[in-house]
Amino acid sequence: MAIDISSLRKILELEQKKNYANTTVIGGLDKFLKGWVNGVAGTITNRPLLNKLKKLNLSNSDYAAMSTTQRQEWIKTILDFTKDLETFSTSPIKATVHSLTPKASKPPAKIKNPVSIDSRSLDLPATVIKGMGPAMAGKFGKLGIKTVRDVLYYFPNRHLDYSQIKTVSQLTEGEQTIIANVWEANVTWLGSRRSTEAVLGDATGNVRAVWFNNPYVAKNLITNNRIVMSGRVKLFNGRFVFESPEWEKVEEGDFTHAGRFVPVYPLTEGLYQRQVRRLIKGAVDHWALQVRDFLPESIRQNCQLMELPDAIAQAHYPDNATWKDKSRIRLVFDELFLLQLGVLNRKRAWLESQPGNAIPTHKELLGKFLEGLPFQLTAAQHKVLTEISKDMEKPQAMSRLLQGDVGSGKTVVALMAMLTTVFNGYQAALMAPTEILAGQHFSTIQNLLTRMGELTSQQPYLYTYNGVLERPLTIALLMGAIPLKKKRELHSRIISGEIDIIIGTHALIQQDVEFKKLGFAVVDEQHRFGVEQRSILRQKGSNPHVLVMTATPIPRTLALTLYGDLDLSVIDELPPGRQLIKTKWLKPNQRASAYNFIRKEIIAGHQAFIICPLIEESESIQARAAVAEYEHLANDIFHDLRLGLLHGKMSSADKEQAMQDFKAKKTDILVSTPVVEVGIDVPNATVMMVESADRFGLSQLHQFRGRVGRGEAQSYCMLLSENPSFVGQERLSIIETVHNGFRLAEEDLKMRGPGEFFGTRQSGLPDLKMAKLSDVSILEMARQQAEALYQSDPRLKLPENALLVKELARVWTSEVGEWS
Ligand code: ADP
Ligand code: MG
Repeated sequence: MAIDISSLRKILELEQKKNYANTTVIGGLDKFLKGWVNGVAGTITNRPLLNKLKKLNLSNSDYAAMSTTQRQEWIKTILDFTKDLETFSTSPIKATVHSLTPKASKPPAKIKNPVSIDSRSLDLPATVIKGMGPAMAGKFGKLGIKTVRDVLYYFPNRHLDYSQIKTVSQLTEGEQTIIANVWEANVTWLGSRRSTEAVLGDATGNVRAVWFNNPYVAKNLITNNRIVMSGRVKLFNGRFVFESPEWEKVEEGDFTHAGRFVPVYPLTEGLYQRQVRRLIKGAVDHWALQVRDFLPESIRQNCQLMELPDAIAQAHYPDNATWKDKSRIRLVFDELFLLQLGVLNRKRAWLESQPGNAIPTHKELLGKFLEGLPFQLTAAQHKVLTEISKDMEKPQAMSRLLQGDVGSGKTVVALMAMLTTVFNGYQAALMAPTEILAGQHFSTIQNLLTRMGELTSQQPYLYTYNGVLERPLTIALLMGAIPLKKKRELHSRIISGEIDIIIGTHALIQQDVEFKKLGFAVVDEQHRFGVEQRSILRQKGSNPHVLVMTATPIPRTLALTLYGDLDLSVIDELPPGRQLIKTKWLKPNQRASAYNFIRKEIIAGHQAFIICPLIEESESIQARAAVAEYEHLANDIFHDLRLGLLHGKMSSADKEQAMQDFKAKKTDILVSTPVVEVGIDVPNATVMMVESADRFGLSQLHQFRGRVGRGEAQSYCMLLSENPSFVGQERLSIIETVHNGFRLAEEDLKMRGPGEFFGTRQSGLPDLKMAKLSDVSILEMARQQAEALYQSDPRLKLPENALLVKELARVWTSEVGEWS
C-alpha cells in the first residue's frame, strides 16, 4: 500500500502542538484531509479498514466549525486510524474488493470467474456449483433447492455483525472481532470435554480463545498464521476470552465466517453453517452476475432500487448495514411487484372476457325474506348487501371479497344475493371447503327459507319450496360422497336448470358439473381454496358474479395486494348481544379441573367441543389419534356422559350423523380433529377445549373459539398445551386477551409473515419469502409502480418489459402463457 501515513501523522501532530488552531494547513485541515481520503481510499483493499475510514466521515467534516475539544477528539481518532493503517500495510490483506460508497448503479459484488451470460444457466442443476457434490445437493434438495437460482435465492435468516474490527487492547465483553496472529493452539480438557485452547495476539496484546467440546480447531490453527476471529468475548478471571468464536485465515482472501457481516442460514439435518456459507459464497461470487435484472430500468431508478445481481450478493454478504437493508428492499419489492402485476393481469383478463349478467335487485322479495328472519340485519350487513346488489346490477361480472369476523353473519347476506339471482332466472352456487360445512349451509338455508315459504318436497340432498317465487325453488347439496347414481341425477338436473341453488364442496367444480345458467357463485371460507379453484368456478357459468367470503380478515393494504383483483367489503360489527368468550390458557396440571368444568357445564344443560392434539403427518394418523383420544375420554374421564366423535376419515354419512347428534343434543361432548374449525354452528355448545393449542395459528384458534358463544349462555375457550415454544407461548397469551379477529390476523401475520400465513405456495400465488406485513411502504411502492406500468403497457409488449414478462411467467406458474 503506497500510503504516505507518516506525513499525514506529522501534520496532525503539528496541529496538536499548535493547540488545534487550524493554522497547520493552508486552506484548512479538513480540506487537506478530503484530498488525502480521495487519494487513499482507492488503495485500501481491506474492507474493515475501509469501513473505519468511512466512519471517520472525513469528507464531510467541518473542522473550522468545531470547538477545541471536538478538534482534539477528532484528530485523535484519525491518528488512531493511521495506526491501524500501518498495521495492515506491513501485512497486506488480499481480496475484499467491494466499493466503498453505496452507489446503486455500481455493483458492489465482485464476480471472480464470470462465465458467459446466459440466463438459462440459472436453471442448471445446483450440482454445477463448485463444491456441490451429489450428496450435498441431496441435502439441499430436501430444502427445495434444486437449481443455481434456488441457491442464489436461499437467503439467510439473519446476519451476525462482525464488521467492526478491534485491536486486542480495545476488546470489551460482547460480540467482537479481531485480526491476530496465532501464537499457540492446543487440545485441552475443559470439564470432561476435549476442547481447544489458543492464545492469539496483535501489536497491542494477547488474548485467549477456547472452543468447548471441539478439539479439531487445534489442528487447524497454525502458529504464526494470521486469522480473523469473531465471536462472544467474556471476562474470565479478570481476562478476556473468546468463546467458540468463528475464525478463518486471513490469507484465504474474502472473508466468509468472520470480520464482516456474516450470514446465518436456515439448515437441515446434515448441513453445517460453515459449509453452507462457503458453498453459497462461492455460488454468489461466481453466478450472481448471471442474474439478469428483469426490472425495467426506469422503475429501478424511480424507486432507487439496487440492481438485482448486487441485491442478491448483498443479501448474502452485505458490505455494511446500509447495503443489507437496500438489498432486502429490492428483493421484497420484487416479490410484491410481481404479485401485484399478476393480480392486475388477472383482473384485466376477467374484465375483457364476455360481459356479465345484470341482475336487478328485487326489493319486494328481499323485504319478504327480511320479515321472516328471526333477527334484524346489522347496519354492516345492510351496507355490504347494498354493495353487492349494486355490483350485480351492472352487466359486468362482480369480483368481491367479503371479510367478516367469525359469527358476523356473512351467510345470510350471501343467501339474499342468491335469492335475487334465482328470481332473475339464473342459478346460484355456494361452495364450502368441507362436507360438514356444506351440509350445514344446506340445512341453515332450509331453515331460513321455511320462514317465508312452504317445503313441498324433500329428499336427501334436495328440497323444494313453494311461495318464495312465482314458481317452486329447488335447492341441492352436491358433495363427493354422494352415491354415484344420485350424483348423476343431480348433475343432469343442474344442467337442465331444474335446480336453482346448488350448495356443495369441491364437487361443484368437477368437470362433469355443468350449469344451465350460473349467474352468481359464492365461495365460503375462501382462504381454504386455491386461486385456481376459484377461477374454475368462475368459468363454470356465463361469467357469473363472484363473491368470496372469509373469516380470516387481513389488513387492508395487504388485502389490496393479495386480492388486488377483488373489490373489498367488510362486515365490521357483530350482531348485538354477542358475548365475549372467556378464554384461558391452562397449564398441564390444570387438566383435571378443566374436565370438571366441562362436566359442570354439561350438567347445566350445555355441550362442549374437545379438539384433539394436532398431528401433522397425515389425515389418517390424525384420525387414529382422534379415535384414541375419544376412547380415553369416553372410558376414563367422562364415562357417564355421551360422547361423539368427528374426524376427516369418517364417511360423509357418519360425519353428518355425528353433527346431527350433537346439534340435537344427543351427545354432550364432540371430540373432533380440527375439521370443525370452520363454520359449525351449535348454539347450545358453551365450551371449546383445544389440545396442543400452541401448535395452531392465532386465526385458527380464533375460529375454534368462534364455534361457541353462538347462543345466549356465557361461553368459554380453554387452551391446553404441554410444552409450548416461545412463539407458542406468545400466541397463547395474545389469544387470551385479544378477541377481535382483525387484530389477531395482524398479530398472526407479524409472527408468520404472509407467505406462511397464506400458504401462498399451495394457493397458486407466487411465493413470498422475504416480504413481511410490516413492509407497508414497499408494498405501497410496488402497488403504485405496478399500476403505473399496467396503465402504460397493459400487455407488457414494450421491449424494455420483455424480461419482466419472462419473470412473471416463471413466478406465476399457474398462469403461464397469459402474459402476451
Ligand atoms: P359467519 O359470518 O361466521 O359465517 P354466520 O353467517 O354463520 O356467521 O352467522 C352466525 C350466526 O349469527 C348464525 O346463527 C346467524 O343466524 C346469526 N346471525 C346472522 N346475522 C345476525 C343478526 N343480524 N343478528 C343476530 N344474529 C345473526
Ligand atoms: Mg360462515
